[in-house]
Amino acid sequence: MTETAAGPSEAQAPIPFDNQFARELPEAGVPAQAQPSPAPSWLYFNAPLAQELGLDVERLGGAQGLGWFSGQLAVPGSQPLAQAYAGHQFGGFSPQLGDGRALLLGDAITPQGRRYDLAFKGSGPTAFARRGDGKAAVGPVLREVLMGEALHALGLPTTRVLAAVRTGESVRRERLLPGAMLTRVAASHLRVGTFEFFAARQDQAMLRRVLDHALGRHDPDLLTLGPAPDQVLAFLERVQQRQARLVAQWMGIGFLHGVMNTDNMTISGETIDFGPCALMEAYEPEAVFSSIDQYGRYAYRAQPGIAQWNLARLAESLLSLMGEDAERAIELASAQLQRFPAQFAEAWREVFLAKLGLRDGPHSSPDDALVQDFLDLLQQARADFTLGFHALADLLPAATQEADAPGLHPLIVDAPAWLAWRQRWHAALIGQGDAPQQQRERLRRTNPWIVPRNHQVEAALSAASDQGDLRPFERLLAGLRQPFTHDAALSDLAQAAPIEFTARYQTFCGT
Ligand code: AMP
Ligand code: MG
Repeated sequence: MTETAAGPSEAQAPIPFDNQFARELPEAGVPAQAQPSPAPSWLYFNAPLAQELGLDVERLGGAQGLGWFSGQLAVPGSQPLAQAYAGHQFGGFSPQLGDGRALLLGDAITPQGRRYDLAFKGSGPTAFARRGDGKAAVGPVLREVLMGEALHALGLPTTRVLAAVRTGESVRRERLLPGAMLTRVAASHLRVGTFEFFAARQDQAMLRRVLDHALGRHDPDLLTLGPAPDQVLAFLERVQQRQARLVAQWMGIGFLHGVMNTDNMTISGETIDFGPCALMEAYEPEAVFSSIDQYGRYAYRAQPGIAQWNLARLAESLLSLMGEDAERAIELASAQLQRFPAQFAEAWREVFLAKLGLRDGPHSSPDDALVQDFLDLLQQARADFTLGFHALADLLPAATQEADAPGLHPLIVDAPAWLAWRQRWHAALIGQGDAPQQQRERLRRTNPWIVPRNHQVEAALSAASDQGDLRPFERLLAGLRQPFTHDAALSDLAQAAPIEFTARYQTFCGT
């Protein structure tokens, strides 16, 4: 504990830090302190998340919290360190990246027994900062808030922002921008790059300890599994499953991560780092928005292949733990990796069948081609991905057959192909035997109305950053938190962006 002279009501640590990472893996980080913000003020406090974590909302969201989350006061019980990791960025390997502008404050446990990390981002340069300033700006910080909350509300595993503050100083990018820092919650910050860091140094003892730590955090049931190579293979299987599911879920909402480097791929299967991410508007599998991704390495369609490529880097990093026989280790790891396409296909199928209201079951085996055919129709019509799926609930067989479904206008114009598809889809739904009302509700719960549209996100961020006006951000956040609810007052948030906007839209690595 670093808190001293606390009054009776303040004696209890505001966050029940346990700091297992610092205890078990001190060599995997460098102790560091946040730079105190010169004149902090609140941008955002995530009360629902604080509540989920069992934290004191009043205390953390008040004046004391502002001191803690701005680096002005040490957070009692924290043991801040900059984590070491390596990474393949756009295919090229950097043996040392590490937290250049982030700090792990520590890990803590919720009253329900769930362990989580708390980390700062934008809290000043660390030993890993190289030429970076270690800072963050208001826009990218609030983008991370919006995207994390949106993905969470849509049911995707993601890191989330607990607190975001203005630091009161400017940061220099292409121009001067108001500075900010955030506090992020993650199941852990272990990434593929954490393993790559020690593999590159051929430090087998550390690799072993990092693996044990990772198992303890994410796959404790595998801890007792021996002997090599079974445990490593079982771990790879789990990470593959989580990533397959995550990428399928990303694709199910039209999400492009934009910078799937191995240092941005978590072991937990949570989404992390929202710098250049974007959402697809019209369905276009080749879509890519990131300004630095000239060859479409991280295009929408490429994401599962890249996930597998990254997982191959994880498998390589773990080879030395798979026993004496190197050739056999490579064979086994390759065979394990080759399971990924099937794992992904299964996850993708589940996500997209659900979007059509279809499911596998003892009495039904849905027509899989319905999914691809619908996507093809959307693509030919340049129809909006989100609204296209959302409109399906209005086109159920026994429901309002001829109802006007705004998202599908372009499809309806292409009558023959569209009508043929709709008949097949209706037949498949009827074959499942649910009441139309049930089907309608299920579709409504699966296909969101409000998603973080790029033009809305940009408008909210520039109002906050350029005019200091947080109202558009707050309004958008409110919509993103109830993505399946039709609220007429928020209908502008559900609209597709003007085509000209999307044609020109580029994202930048959020520094
Ligand atoms: P990212 O692209 O945000 O995943 O970061 C890649 C690497 O660059 C990580 O090692 C970061 O810590 C580092 N980095 C990014 N921005 C900055 C910055 N402004 N100052 C210091 N390091 C940074
Ligand atoms: Mg990163």
